[in-house]
Amino acid sequence: MTNSPKMHYDSSILHGAADRDEATGALSIPIYNASTFHQKDISKRQEFDYGRSGNPTRKALEETLANLEHGHSAFALSSGMAAIHAAITAFVKAGDHIVATRDIYGGSYRFLTGFLPKFGVSHTFVDTTDPNKTVAAILPNTKVMFLESPSNPLLKITDIVAHAKIAKDHGLISIIDNTFLSPYYCRPLVHGIDISIHSATKFLGGHSDVIAGAVIAKTPELASPVHYVQNTCGAVLSPQDSWLLLRGIKTLAARMTHQQKTAFIVAEWLQKQAWVKSVYFPGLKSHPGHDLLTSQAHGYGCVVSFETDTIDRLNALVKSVKILTVAVSLGGVESILSYPAKMSHAAMPASTRAELGISDSLLRLSIGLEDANDIIADLDTSAKTL
Ligand SMILES: *Cc1c(COP(=O)(O)O)cnc(C)c1O
Repeated sequence: MTNSPKMHYDSSILHGAADRDEATGALSIPIYNASTFHQKDISKRQEFDYGRSGNPTRKALEETLANLEHGHSAFALSSGMAAIHAAITAFVKAGDHIVATRDIYGGSYRFLTGFLPKFGVSHTFVDTTDPNKTVAAILPNTKVMFLESPSNPLLKITDIVAHAKIAKDHGLISIIDNTFLSPYYCRPLVHGIDISIHSATKFLGGHSDVIAGAVIAKTPELASPVHYVQNTCGAVLSPQDSWLLLRGIKTLAARMTHQQKTAFIVAEWLQKQAWVKSVYFPGLKSHPGHDLLTSQAHGYGCVVSFETDTIDRLNALVKSVKILTVAVSLGGVESILSYPAKMSHAAMPASTRAELGISDSLLRLSIGLEDANDIIADLDTSAKTL
């Protein structure tokens, strides 16, 4: 199905690509559990020959992902980290350098600082909220600009239009981790970014039941090296997991809209509590990146971070919550409370966390579909157990 110019974005999530099985008209794309495909005429190349190189269920998902962010093509991988691996290694070789957002996801931090140096690829972290700092970090051997916005877990906003231009001016490939806003609230390729990646485990899947990653490329030239890594390194998403993601994506608009509405209510409530030291949510007018994000995105997301007055308070709260799930991860229909210093950012040395302002009394709350009053009551009661 092609994206009709008259179709609104919410409809295009459902009908912009791969909305029906071509063979039967089924509204749910079948799970093709096939490792290999009969080749009718060995002198001709056929679309599907081996399951790592291509699978019809995965293809339906990849078309859906490309449509969501207006890319030329997309690739479904076995995790968000596999997506980051594919997107970055598609464009670097030994001797190359990467400029990256300073407060990125802990796994991306480990990939850049621990893994890539083994292959001769170096990096510089910069505070990308200031584009001048990014420019200053570019070296003659810089090949890739790796951004994450809103950043993790402090939700700092990077100017993606300015960074897309810097990347063009310096001949760099720009890659952004767009997990936190999801395609529903941000479509970076429209703003000139080359490649967008997602931990599809989070908002795209949305139901805390699948680990998956996505890479979306703006042009055929950018897609081809990513496809090469996907097929060569082989971290493809299985047909079953591709189906789960297709199913999750169908409710993306409804989930994101409702969860964001609740995020506003909870963030505004948190701001008024004496035991809360600070609240980080880009939807709040007081957030330093609010106006910038308003101009470059369709929303602010569903993640709210906040600092408690003391570490004892944090411990009491985390121990007592009943509705909130204390866990790693975000983006599910259940609200998830996580402790960055011990969970997502444990791979980062304590001194680096301190430098970035990720304090030991910081909590990150991913808002789900529960009633806002119940989330607030759970936080209120738990914080007062101290
Ligand atoms: C979770 C996450 C990742 C890693 O994704 P996995 O699916 O866990 O491999 C990358 N970036 C961000 C922002 C994340 O939240």
